[in-house]
Amino acid sequence: MAGLACARQLAAAGPRPLVLDKGRGVGGRMATRRVEIAGHACGFDHGAQYFTIRDPEFRAALSPVADAIAPWDEGGSEPRFVGRPGMSGLQKAMAEGIDLRQGIEVLALGREGSAWRLETGGGPILARHLVMTMPAPQAARLLGRDHPLTARLDSVRIAPCLALMAAFPAEAPRPFPHRSSETEPLSWIAQDSSKPGRHAGLTCWVAQAGPDWSAANLEESPDSLARLMLPLLAKAIGADPERALHASAHRWRYARVTAPLGEPYLGDDDSTLWLGGDWCLGARVEAAWQSGTALAQALMRHLHAG
Ligand SMILES: Cc1cc2nc3c(=O)[nH]c(=O)nc-3n(C[C@H](O)[C@H](O)[C@H](O)COP(=O)(O)OP(=O)(O)OC[C@H]3O[C@@H](n4cnc5c(N)ncnc54)[C@H](O)[C@@H]3O)c2cc1C
Repeated sequence: MAGLACARQLAAAGPRPLVLDKGRGVGGRMATRRVEIAGHACGFDHGAQYFTIRDPEFRAALSPVADAIAPWDEGGSEPRFVGRPGMSGLQKAMAEGIDLRQGIEVLALGREGSAWRLETGGGPILARHLVMTMPAPQAARLLGRDHPLTARLDSVRIAPCLALMAAFPAEAPRPFPHRSSETEPLSWIAQDSSKPGRHAGLTCWVAQAGPDWSAANLEESPDSLARLMLPLLAKAIGADPERALHASAHRWRYARVTAPLGEPYLGDDDSTLWLGGDWCLGARVEAAWQSGTALAQALMRHLHAG
C-alpha cells in the first residue's frame, strides 16, 4: 500500500516511478492466496483482514478505485472495507498504469556515482532517487549497520503473526462472520467466505494467532503450523477438523507494528533515499497509505526545489 500510494502520487505529478516488489502477487501484507480446492477456486485474505477509512484524503484517493472496494460487516462500530474480489484486488487496481515489476527482490544496495545501485536477481538497477517501503527491519538489513538512518529503523517494533487458511464443505458450521479474543491462541477468526464477492461454494476461514502464540511457534514449518492451528479453529467454530478440505499456514515475520516511528517517513541528508511504510505511523492499511503519500509529497517538494 505504501509503495503504490507513493508511486500513484508521483505518477500523477509527472515522474514515472519504477516499482519493484519481491512478492509474486501484488499486495504485500494486503495479500490474497488463491487455492484450487475440490474444484473450487478459493481466495483467502491471509494478511490484512479489512481496512477503515478515517482520513478524508484517503477516502478521496480511493474514489478512482472504488470498484475494487466493498464494505464488510456493516454492523461494526466503524465501517470496514475489503478489496474485491480479494483483498489484493484493491492493490491490483491501484497498480494500473504503474510500471510494477513483481518477483524482483532487491538483494543489496550500493552507490554508483550519484546513483543508488540495486542488486537484484535479474541484474543491477540504477536509481537517482530510491524510496523503500518494506518493513523497517528489512530496510535496515539492506542499509547496513553503518547507515545513519539504521538507528531510527531499529526503534520500530513489529510483531509476527501466524495465519491459518482452512476450507470446509459449504454445510459446515458458520457460527459467526468474525471473532476476536485476547485470551485464546487464535486472536482473530474470520469467515473469509462471508466477505462480499467471495466464492460461496465452500466455507473458507482465516485464523490468526495472537502475538505470544505466534512468537512461540514462529520457526515451525508451515505444514506443522497448519496441523497445530486447524484443531484450534475447528474447536472455535464447532466443526470436525477431519472434514477440512484444506489447511495451510503462512508466517508473517513482520506483521503488526507495535511501536511505530511516529513520523510519516524518513529521508537521508542528500534527499536521494526515502523510507516509509505502515511502521512510520501505525499498524493499519491507512497508515501505510499516509506514509506513502507523504513520501511522494516530500520527494516532489525536493524535485521542485532542485
Ligand atoms: C496478519 C495481518 C493482519 C492484518 N490485519 C489488518 C487489518 O485488519 N486492518 C488493517 O488496517 N491492517 C492490518 N494489517 C496491517 C496491514 O496489512 C499493513 O499495515 C499494510 O498492508 C502495510 O503496508 P506497507 O505498504 O507498509 O507494507 P507491505 O504490505 O509489507 O509492503 C512491503 C512490500 O515490500 C516488498 N519487499 C520487501 N522486501 C523487499 C525487497 N528486498 N525487494 C523487493 N521488494 C521487497 C514486499 O514484497 C511487500 O510487497 C495486518 C497485517 C497482517 C500481516
